Amino acid sequence: MDGPAHLPARLLAHDPAVLYTRLPALALSVLTRATILNLSGDAPVVMGRLVMKFGGTSVANLDRIRNVARHVKREVDAGHDVAVVVSAMAGKTNELVEWCRDASAMHDAREYDAVVASGEQVTAGLLAIALQSIGIQARSWQGWQIPIKTSDAHASARILDIDGSELIDHFRERQEVAVIAGFQGIHAQTGRITTLGRGGSDTSAVAVAAAIRADRCDIYTDVDGVYTTDPRIVPKARRLDKIAFEDMLELASQGAKVLQVRSVELGMVHNMPIFVRSSFDKPEDIDPHGTPPGTLICSEEEIMENHVVTGIAFSKDEAQISVRQIEDKPGVAAAIFGPLADANINVDMIVQNVSEDGKTTDLTFTVPAADHARARETIGAAKVAIGYARLDSATDVAKVSVIGSGMRSHAGVAAQAFKALAERNINIRAITTSEIKFSVLIDAAYTELAVRTLHTLYGLDQA
Ligand code: ADP
Ligand code: ASP
Ligand code: MG
Repeated sequence: MDGPAHLPARLLAHDPAVLYTRLPALALSVLTRATILNLSGDAPVVMGRLVMKFGGTSVANLDRIRNVARHVKREVDAGHDVAVVVSAMAGKTNELVEWCRDASAMHDAREYDAVVASGEQVTAGLLAIALQSIGIQARSWQGWQIPIKTSDAHASARILDIDGSELIDHFRERQEVAVIAGFQGIHAQTGRITTLGRGGSDTSAVAVAAAIRADRCDIYTDVDGVYTTDPRIVPKARRLDKIAFEDMLELASQGAKVLQVRSVELGMVHNMPIFVRSSFDKPEDIDPHGTPPGTLICSEEEIMENHVVTGIAFSKDEAQISVRQIEDKPGVAAAIFGPLADANINVDMIVQNVSEDGKTTDLTFTVPAADHARARETIGAAKVAIGYARLDSATDVAKVSVIGSGMRSHAGVAAQAFKALAERNINIRAITTSEIKFSVLIDAAYTELAVRTLHTLYGLDQA
């Protein structure tokens, strides 16, 4: 371990970072996490280690990349060690995905990853150049260079391991900002490039933050925090100051794309505070030791106010499949869901009801819209084994989910929603519930109306 003699004078003067290397992990987190964000309002200013992640719209062109560089400079000048994680420029990943599809509908997932990972490589290099040009030492890193080791599930790989020690050494020895290409990693055994699934740079950022034992992971995006629902759909949505990992996990998995689900899972496992904030605020107007507008995702204990409903998410990427007139006998569900599982198709909502003749049953379930055709084929291929009369399906459906850990201790929350939706003449096709959320499947055309209705119903509208 480097002694203080190797640490830059800037840090030695008044920076507890010198102590970080010697304090046990718990002391470190208590010392730094509360103070770096100045949550209590009057905590002393200290410096620490930060991960700053910038999404596609934040790096959409060279002007915005220069703006990002100024955000980074602000934190470096304040004395923090900084690792930056970047996404591809807005629209770039979509274009690359399209190119793969055009090249061949049945393309090799390893080559898809080789193509789509390139977007982040470009932004990492450009940001390093932009930083150097304003006098900040910076170096770009691709996933394989760190390395960010992942599983071999190409196009949706999971991060298995990141060795953060080299990055930490670079902070100490060279005061160098690490600019890391998000979304990508490497499968150690095959040496092939992998990607983490759409929106995966969030996950890269939180994983890097955990690996370098950062004090906080800042997610800079095109909104200034996590709202009670998508602020682009409901202008009355309210920004949350804090949200518990559990609630954020549900919001993200039910369709709020502000954070990739896996990034929230990692944050929860490593108890890494994630702070969602805007990259469009003027870098120079922000006090690096103040409390900027944004949303802190943290453990439930840190949240004083507990509303019954925290937020509402929706997803139009759903398809409904109904298997009609199945003979009602043991083993039918297994005959349907077994082949779907074998085909790696995720089934979400399931409703079984007795059909008109009373002898047979109908089974309705949802799958991701992208798997609609494959799910139909899979059920079609198992027709004899299942024994059904007809297969219906629809893709013009949406799932609206109401989330709140306060639901654990409150009854009747869902019942209010059913009534409010009925009053708006919105038909519910399927329902699922869990401890801290419930979801309804409705016609896609009513999504916005349903979200706004429920947002008002649960008192989430801005005053
Ligand atoms: P980035 O490119 O920075 O990763 P994303 O487009 O992936 O940004 O995520 C930000 C977007 O998430 C916002 O523009 C917003 O429309 C959407 N969003 C959905 N639900 C929410 C929510 N509850 N709070 C904030 N943003 C949300
Ligand atoms: N560029 C990737 C995507 O568009 C990863 C990300 O932006 O998080 O999905
Ligand atoms: Mg994103």
